[in-house]
Amino acid sequence: MSILRAAETTQRTDTGRQRRGNEDSAFVRAPVFAVADGMGGAQAGEVASQLAVEAFEAGLPEDGSPEERLAEVVQRANRRIHELSRTQHEHAGMGTTLTAAYLDGGHVVIAHVGDSRAYLFRDGQLVRLTQDHSLVEELRQRGKLTEEEAAEHPQRSIITRALGPEPDVQVDTLSQAVRSGDVILLCSDGLTSMISEKQVRQILADAPTLQAAGDALIDGANAAGGKDNITVVLFRVEEVGDGVLDQPTMVTAGPQRNGAAAATAERPAPAARLARTQGFTRPSERERHFGRLGKTVAALVAVAAVVFLIGGGGYLASRQLYFLGTNGQGIVTVYRGFPYVLPFGVPMYETSYVSGVAASEIPSDRRSTLLNHDLRSQSSATNLINSIERGQISG
Ligand code: CA
Repeated sequence: MSILRAAETTQRTDTGRQRRGNEDSAFVRAPVFAVADGMGGAQAGEVASQLAVEAFEAGLPEDGSPEERLAEVVQRANRRIHELSRTQHEHAGMGTTLTAAYLDGGHVVIAHVGDSRAYLFRDGQLVRLTQDHSLVEELRQRGKLTEEEAAEHPQRSIITRALGPEPDVQVDTLSQAVRSGDVILLCSDGLTSMISEKQVRQILADAPTLQAAGDALIDGANAAGGKDNITVVLFRVEEVGDGVLDQPTMVTAGPQRNGAAAATAERPAPAARLARTQGFTRPSERERHFGRLGKTVAALVAVAAVVFLIGGGGYLASRQLYFLGTNGQGIVTVYRGFPYVLPFGVPMYETSYVSGVAASEIPSDRRSTLLNHDLRSQSSATNLINSIERGQISG
């Protein structure tokens, strides 16, 4: 029997060319890997991303599927960041993305919140495994933006989900079957907002080692401007036969025949801090009950978190965005926020001003260009609605 382990790993983080500090954090301790991209005033973003990756030091809980175990660590990180942001003035409003990978036998399990990304590089092809929790990605999914428009969109750094703002966070998880030779890339948006996936693919294809690939990715993002902190974590999956595990030096790996055991075996003893048997206690029946019941609540809280992020986050600019549309009575209306509705029917906008003009009074050829939900500044929206009310726009 053979097993898969993380054979070659590398991590690099770089401040980039324009930021003064680096708010990204990374975690590499096979079989667990993570990238976090913090945000918040002063050094709060740095603290948030560091807290996020530190949560993995205690290891994964014992119970549940690999996805559940990884997601529980993310929830744990979220609770800690939220608690500190609530109780420590200097950390108020901090948040972070978190994308984590766990190599579990023949699968890589991913847990993900925010707009950092996980990719699979296999046979020269690059496949994105995660979906960004970002405004532009949601607009793209609704067909409001093309892939190219999303990549260039000025609001592309606005995220709709993060660790920190709420006591619970909705964590996306997935499990990807892997085979020997596969490379997994985790990265912050400082990489993917600067260079295209095509360039990332080319760099991975050309680099002789993962370390060289990591360096080339950072260099590529910096050469393109380096507007943000850049972090990359890479690991290659390799098959290891039983014979290797049977070597005397590998005895400490124990009886488990999975990726976790193999990776533990591969590391020197002092690094074996990811003890899977400690750090977590078995949840009580009551907690389990709340775990199930909590899913719906968590989803609702996630929506509330989005609304909070969009509406209240100091680093999110949506309150300054307006658009024109038509209300339920067919009246031209100025809305504040974003022109779309979240799951559960929660709108990401609020009525700012209801005009005295019915949409039907505007010539139909102008109507489609004026009421098309284009995002505007407050002054632009105000000027436009004034012109409409004064009848200055009549075709
Ligand atoms: Ca970033």
